[in-house]
Amino acid sequence: MKRALNFNAGPAALPEAVLQKAQQEWLNIEDTGMSVMELSHRSQTFENIHNKAISLLKEIMDIPDNYEILFLQGGASLQFSMVPMNLLSTGKKAYYVLTGSWSEKALNEAGKIGDTAVAASAKDTNYTYIPSADEISFGEDAAYVHITTNNTIFGTQWNNYPVLEEVPLVADMSSDILSKKIDISKFGLIYAGAQKNLGPSGVTVVIIRKDLVNSSLTNLPTMLNYETHIKNNSLYNTPPTLAIYLLSLVLEWVKDQGGVEVLQENNTAKAKLIYDAIDNSEGFYKGHAQPESRSHMNVTFTLPDEAATKKFLEEAKLAGFVGLNGHRSVGGCRASIYNAVPLSHCEKLVGFMKNFKESYSSAAIKA
Ligand SMILES: *Cc1c(COP(=O)(O)O)cnc(C)c1O
Repeated sequence: MKRALNFNAGPAALPEAVLQKAQQEWLNIEDTGMSVMELSHRSQTFENIHNKAISLLKEIMDIPDNYEILFLQGGASLQFSMVPMNLLSTGKKAYYVLTGSWSEKALNEAGKIGDTAVAASAKDTNYTYIPSADEISFGEDAAYVHITTNNTIFGTQWNNYPVLEEVPLVADMSSDILSKKIDISKFGLIYAGAQKNLGPSGVTVVIIRKDLVNSSLTNLPTMLNYETHIKNNSLYNTPPTLAIYLLSLVLEWVKDQGGVEVLQENNTAKAKLIYDAIDNSEGFYKGHAQPESRSHMNVTFTLPDEAATKKFLEEAKLAGFVGLNGHRSVGGCRASIYNAVPLSHCEKLVGFMKNFKESYSSAAIKA
């Protein structure tokens, strides 16, 4: 069976071993005679899967005991609203660092809930870089500062997170969670939709420091209150059982690989291969992100013109590559190389890029 060379931005490639394991257990999980989707979410079998996913995440990410781990629905996009609903009280302001479309969306949603301000912005360059620590400003009225750790569309990524002392740092990590080692204690709240690095769509991970949970939000809709989900171990209502099961398999896979440190090494090597191909192309390929802000998850690049981009994407498709078209706000191409994308696929892409450059350039000379 032929598997695609999948560079999709999200939903994205899953580890083949995870899909195989799920296939093995599809009709009969843990000798229940049922698929995981047919189990009661109150059954012991499901509860074990659910709790295993929580404890694996805690172990792999080295999450301290003063944090809660939640599995919610509604995607990262619902967190754009839930974060201010739960953390932004009257008289306070939420500060957002704008590094791309997702941070803009997060800011817009927060503006519907309370007072907001922009702490820094890279918009004037069409989001080619991550602002440095001294560009970020916020007042004493700050409820939190929000960042997007990896900018899926523009292909930039934070290397050094801002240190805010007392003010909680809130991070949308949808597209780089588990891709590298991070110090959780630097963050007040982390959220991530699963469909890039964690599993299929349908489950959203929220990691929240316990002291930030506000128990006086009695008017907040029950489902939008973090406290509801904390009190019920994310089992207040029916959770996305299949997605949580697949998340648990992905986390087992991460552990089998040797943990985030090993994934980080692999991701660095994968990204370097493609960026080197861009940098050694005599300007044929141009990276969108400034070198010091380059993402190890989403590599964005452009070609000399529209015609070249169109031909590149057509030929890439014929060669078995999927998902290389760039987002319309950047143009050109994007290779999303999340944890599950193997090095060998990146090597194939680099080979393809080199061949394409040569054949396109020599065709242009002949014409
Ligand atoms: C994909 C993505 C989102 C949106 O996630 P949904 O789960 O579709 O709501 C938000 N933020 C970032 C950084 C993303 O990459």
